[in-house]
Amino acid sequence: MSEPALHLSPSPGDEVKRTTCYMCACRCGIKVWVKDGRIRYIQGNRDHPVNQGVLCAKGASGIMQHYSPARLRKPLLRVGERGKGEFREIEWDEALDLATSWLKPIRERNPDELAFFTGRDQSQALTGWWAQQFGTINYAAHGGFCSVNMAAGGLYTLGGSFWEFGEPDWEHTRYLMLWGVAEDHDSNPIKLGLGKLKARGAKIVAVNPVRSGYGAIADEWIGIRPGTDGLFAFALAHELLRMDRVDLDYLVRYANAHWLVIDNPGGADDGLFARDAEGNALCWDAEANAAIDANRIDISPAVVGNYTLPDGRKARPAFQLVADRYLDPQYSPDAVSERCGIPADTIRRIARELAETAFDSNFSLPIAWTDAWGREHSEMIGRPVSMHAMRGISAHSNGFHTCRALHLLQLLLGAVDAPGSFRYQPPFPKPIPPANRPGKARKADGLLDAPPLGFVHGPEDLVVDENGQPRRIDHAYSWAYPLSAHGMMHTVIRNAHAGDPYKIDTLLMFMANMSWNSAMNTRETMRWLTDKDEAGEYRIPRIIYSDAYASEMVAYADLVLPDTTYLERFDAISLLDRPISDADAASDAIRHPVFDPATQLDEDGKPRDVRGFQSVLIELGARLGLPGLVNEDSSPKYRDYADYIIRHERAPGLGLLAGWRGENGQSEGKGAPNPEQLQRYIEHGGFWHAAIPESARYYKMANRDYLQWAQRFGFVPNDAPIVLQLYSETLQKFRLAAQGHGAHQPPEQHRERVATYFDPLPIWYEPFEHDQTSRTTFPLNAVTQRPMFMYHSWGSQNAWLRQITARNYLYLHPDTGPQYGIGDEDWIEVRSHHGAITVQAKFAGNVQPGTVWTWNAIGKRRGAWRLAKDAPEGEQGFLLNHLISDVTPKGDYANADPVTGQAAWFDLRVSIRTLRDVAGESEPQFAPLGFPEASEQPLRYGAGFRKDASGKGSAK
Ligand code: SF4
Repeated sequence: MSEPALHLSPSPGDEVKRTTCYMCACRCGIKVWVKDGRIRYIQGNRDHPVNQGVLCAKGASGIMQHYSPARLRKPLLRVGERGKGEFREIEWDEALDLATSWLKPIRERNPDELAFFTGRDQSQALTGWWAQQFGTINYAAHGGFCSVNMAAGGLYTLGGSFWEFGEPDWEHTRYLMLWGVAEDHDSNPIKLGLGKLKARGAKIVAVNPVRSGYGAIADEWIGIRPGTDGLFAFALAHELLRMDRVDLDYLVRYANAHWLVIDNPGGADDGLFARDAEGNALCWDAEANAAIDANRIDISPAVVGNYTLPDGRKARPAFQLVADRYLDPQYSPDAVSERCGIPADTIRRIARELAETAFDSNFSLPIAWTDAWGREHSEMIGRPVSMHAMRGISAHSNGFHTCRALHLLQLLLGAVDAPGSFRYQPPFPKPIPPANRPGKARKADGLLDAPPLGFVHGPEDLVVDENGQPRRIDHAYSWAYPLSAHGMMHTVIRNAHAGDPYKIDTLLMFMANMSWNSAMNTRETMRWLTDKDEAGEYRIPRIIYSDAYASEMVAYADLVLPDTTYLERFDAISLLDRPISDADAASDAIRHPVFDPATQLDEDGKPRDVRGFQSVLIELGARLGLPGLVNEDSSPKYRDYADYIIRHERAPGLGLLAGWRGENGQSEGKGAPNPEQLQRYIEHGGFWHAAIPESARYYKMANRDYLQWAQRFGFVPNDAPIVLQLYSETLQKFRLAAQGHGAHQPPEQHRERVATYFDPLPIWYEPFEHDQTSRTTFPLNAVTQRPMFMYHSWGSQNAWLRQITARNYLYLHPDTGPQYGIGDEDWIEVRSHHGAITVQAKFAGNVQPGTVWTWNAIGKRRGAWRLAKDAPEGEQGFLLNHLISDVTPKGDYANADPVTGQAAWFDLRVSIRTLRDVAGESEPQFAPLGFPEASEQPLRYGAGFRKDASGKGSAK
């Protein structure tokens, strides 16, 4: 009998292309299998450093993102009223001519009349540079409403940060605390890492009011009350100090614990570091009994005490101030327990566990290394306690200081870039603060003196006018939000409508759903976008928007520039932007076109005529004659974005991609542009990866091998140690200005605010909405969580992911519902100081009883995204955004952190009550948008894959 012909492992396609996923910010390597010109299968790339082959549900569903019925087809020009979604299709030439005719006079007249704000894109290295060429200070990406507290808190303290820029030492940590982490950025690396920890028996503690995602597999869940994480961290610090379980050696060697802080209340130097004539910070040497250079290594620095400097001024080591503040009884576990919702004994136990793991483990790695001062060490001493934090910490009006509080805790434990602890990912750590300041002056050719986003070092760097008033349309870098290093996307539309501080002409946005789930005060935002003046003209005169899909924001544009899907264009995941490095290697990556969009028909079978926004931006820049985008003869300098990625140099030899540089492609980091560079990336799986030498992998802030390695790549200017800033002199400079010192002082109305919130040591205060609303009227906290299966509104229109959930509920603890007369699955009213919504409640035990929650960005406006008009996302789905005001309850400032301007999404306080006689529909509802509805035909993707009689599959 002959063997049956078994086809055990048929190839999923005719060809496979290795590129980078864009279904979330994690940027995993993927293999896209193509058959007969269509995607057959998306697979994780085992060779890729980010995900090592792991693919999540979102990544696999990229197929339906690429074939989404909501894809835009051609450039669109508005024909109806703004907000209706009525357009006519136009050709690209007309679209670009129009955009050029709008932008050219602005550039000649006043470039700041262009406000250019981008959403969750990954091309800020280009867009920020483009804004600089245009000359507008009014540029930012979405970080202001996303993560700037985390970024600034970290960069001003450690020179690096959590989020996707650092990671727990997955190989060695024995105790991981996750603070406010839901499924989010760095998704697959975290899953892989948690798997390692579980296999090793390491302890995972999840601190989050909601137990979802990673918290579900944690060994211990701390159901904290929202906004109190800083207080909890202080209580842990209190216990560590009380037990004398802090790493003083680490604090002196790597941080500024011993630097002397001048004690001169009311004086212009109060709270600054005592320095010698060369500007070196001083410490008190206990043996010499004298003030000496704190950076010397042959010293015995005092960390406590009061000292008198040679000039008679009084000073104390920074650590003395730390001890004074956090040993105060107000931060004892008993004092904070009720406010945080954590038993005092639990706080004491966790402090003990942290100390025991950090200090009693006797863990070290037998790796010889040399520190930045030239001292040789035979081993790397471990501190196997690590922390990771995300939006739950960041999105509060006290988030900047909470993030600093977590870093304080890490520093006390000696657990920053030590084996087993939090680790930097290159290009971090950076000098503190990072050197690049925000651009604010224009040169003769209209070029801004620096990219619009940067880091202020003191009041003199603020972007304010001679009266101290904001110069930017979003008020970033003003006295109201001085360290707003990512700009303030969430204030742009209000201010542009109000003409505050001036009127703009054109709002250019990319991939930012600002008329819906990315806006606070959503209803009013829609009104601002459509409001007209007495003459019948829109108050925001022109809106250009680029998106790949028919999102809610598209309806509010005058001109729509249709973007490609992520499988149809080149992208650079650049070390100049948001790289994909890990703690042991620097990495960057590309996306490259798997398909030519012209061959990818739309839902109705028509050819699509779409272009990658980055290439459009480059062409627009050339049409406008922007300095960096044209040659001397005014011809375009770059053919498209791919050409820019290859040939653009930010500094000599430094471009968007670090791999295969130099004429022959042999250089890494720096080198001449290589015309074959993108081809090399494609051949190597779409990424580049340079391992850090073994001796350089820890203590990066003061490891000579690392600093010299990083210098070669342009990550740091020299190999000087980066001193971690337990005490922040930068913050104190602002406080002194508010107290009346120096040439740059805040206007009167901001003085008290700046003096209060620019504390050089971390502080905790009630989130503004908690403080300014009645706890009786609004007794509950309300937060969102990002689901495992959807990243944002892009993902929640995806046909496969919608099958997991197509609507959301408001989740209540089973004990909470009855307190308010609410039963499981009742329809209820949720009210905040700002507004009310009608939603369906569901009981879930995974939430702290004083908090209600829901999934993020599932609710949709009817008619958007080409979903059916009765789609559950529109009928029952909802947004909390309608309850969130864009200003504080007092109305005096943006609903944001007073230091960084970070949007305070999670400060929301609500009341709930049951409703009778509701129609089973969420409220508010808005008029359906005028986009064509999805086809009535059921989605048939994959039906053609069934084998035909010959046993061969077909993708038709
Ligand atoms: S984690 Fe994010 S980038 Fe990675 S496969 Fe999933 S969606 Fe794609």
